[in-house]
Amino acid sequence: RLSKSPYKRVLLKLSGEVFGGGKVGVDPDVVQSIARQIAEAQRATGTQIAVVVGGGNFFRGAELKIRGMEQARGDYMGMLGTVMNCLALQDFLEKQGVETRVQTAITMAQVAEPYIPRKAIRHLEKGRVVIFGAGAGMPFFTTDTTAAQRALEIGAEVVLMAKQGVDGIYDSDPKANPDAHRFDVIDPREFLVRGLKVIDAAAVSLCGDNKLPLLAFELETEGNIGRAVAGEKIGTLVCR
Ligand code: UDP
Repeated sequence: RLSKSPYKRVLLKLSGEVFGGGKVGVDPDVVQSIARQIAEAQRATGTQIAVVVGGGNFFRGAELKIRGMEQARGDYMGMLGTVMNCLALQDFLEKQGVETRVQTAITMAQVAEPYIPRKAIRHLEKGRVVIFGAGAGMPFFTTDTTAAQRALEIGAEVVLMAKQGVDGIYDSDPKANPDAHRFDVIDPREFLVRGLKVIDAAAVSLCGDNKLPLLAFELETEGNIGRAVAGEKIGTLVCR
């Protein structure tokens, strides 16, 4: 069903919001569905898949700051939240018969390996899905930016950003403006000049500077992960 993928190795970014199914915490049904899609995509295409998982379903440092917390401390809470999502995804992927490893940017030896890029590459070469947790391990960063950085460091050919509730990048908010136009392809410089949303500017900048293409696509449509991994034309491609 899926065409042969043009990619040997991809970095899939899953926003944390998706994992919660709209609530705080992890919705196992949602995570199971995502795991099934990743397993199918891997089997159908043979592409090596690394994953960065967000944590917005637990905490966002910026939101905790508004409520009176120190931003850096809230950011660490946000990073710890991503690790719970990683473990949930790992569990459901292994139930699908996919071998996995979780690597975290903040070491926690009992639950995951530390982030070691060369080891991550070895896992990928052996057909394991590598799940990166705890973001970049640094406050004031986001998991979108982490996704771009990890993709560059492990030599992924594209960043596949699965988004919730939006099927690509628009020239204005499609929820507020019915005439909003969706881009099929956009140059990262234009994205930044126009101040567009949906993907973090720092992530777009990092991808643009390093000529790494980035695809923003909607996760809710069943099978979209497979389509993205197979290089099908869905969503918006940000590339130079
Ligand atoms: N975070 C951080 N540094 C990182 C990655 C994440 O400080 O390198 C914190 C930050 O507070 C962020 C939260 O973790 O709000 C959850 O990550 P993010 O908002 O990127 O998750 P998503 O939007 O994908 O659910």
